[in-house]
Amino acid sequence: MTTRRELLGQAAGVMAGVGFTGCGLMRGAAAQAPGPARPRETVVNGKRVTTVDIHAHCHIPEALALMGEKVRFPGLVIGPDRIKVMDEQRIDIEALSVNPNFWDKAERDLQAQIVKLQNEKVAEICAKTPERFVGLASVALAHPDLAAEQLQDAVKRLGMRGALVGGSVNGMELADPTLHPFWAKAEELGCVIFIHPQGTPELEASGRLKGSGGLYNVIGNPLETTIALSHLILEGTLDRFPGLKICAAHAGGYLPSYPDRTDAMCANRPDQCPVPLKKKPSEYLKQLYFDSLVFTPEGLRHLIAEVGVSQIVIGTDWPFPWTKTPVDHILETPGLSDADRIAMLGETASKLLGIKS
Ligand SMILES: [Zn+2]
Repeated sequence: MTTRRELLGQAAGVMAGVGFTGCGLMRGAAAQAPGPARPRETVVNGKRVTTVDIHAHCHIPEALALMGEKVRFPGLVIGPDRIKVMDEQRIDIEALSVNPNFWDKAERDLQAQIVKLQNEKVAEICAKTPERFVGLASVALAHPDLAAEQLQDAVKRLGMRGALVGGSVNGMELADPTLHPFWAKAEELGCVIFIHPQGTPELEASGRLKGSGGLYNVIGNPLETTIALSHLILEGTLDRFPGLKICAAHAGGYLPSYPDRTDAMCANRPDQCPVPLKKKPSEYLKQLYFDSLVFTPEGLRHLIAEVGVSQIVIGTDWPFPWTKTPVDHILETPGLSDADRIAMLGETASKLLGIKS
């Protein structure tokens, strides 16, 4: 058996080759340098833990071709290289999702065609290697009735475990009542909905995110997630569908960093919060799930303090190289119990994704 100390020792150097690109936005793609070979197993206090990454992307070239697009980042096509990287990261199982939602503005029929093909191909990849992959479906969210049907088809017929949706769709908020049929279906199916930002094109258009630093991504993406989750809370969507299992990418954007400001607004300016809620806005964070894509032990400690350890699952965003040490991040954060680590490493994600150990 490999000890934790040995595992941590072997983590050294894995960050070599990490560069930064746009998550899902396919800009500024950098070549990947493979990390050193390493054992795959993760053990906590003598217990073998199945590590699960809820935030991993793939592209299906045939589906992109229907929009006249090509895969612009080779790591998005699933092949033996992906398994190798997962082994290096000590990720046992990835929940694969397609991002960005490049079909959002297409005609309804074309969206239906893209989503069907994409879901069937992702399901095929998962069926071929079920011990390493599960699938999150794509849906045509701009057409909520169709999206609800697609979600049901993906879960019931294709064995997918939920779906990825953007933080908005063609300018429509996820809390828009038009989307209630979709949320009702997700609640009925009991499957996870992974909210992944599509950037903030409105801000990009203003030019304020131009310049050094990739702000369209670094700020634009977490900002969209923050807005999406805030509306779902404040418009009463989460009260209306209390059984929803929502997981937010990038640790929920900025929301877990500053939720008390929302509470203060509703407490001190009730005229600004006319929708009656069953609890304080910040308390809804404890019923949402968040990936672990914060970059420091202090970031993870704070996320845990705000949302609870039971709400956090690994997210790597692979193949966009934000982190190559997702498991070590959780193992190395001080002050956690073995049970906390086991929950975040895979136990909670396994429950959310219906993965049986
Ligand atoms: Zn992503």
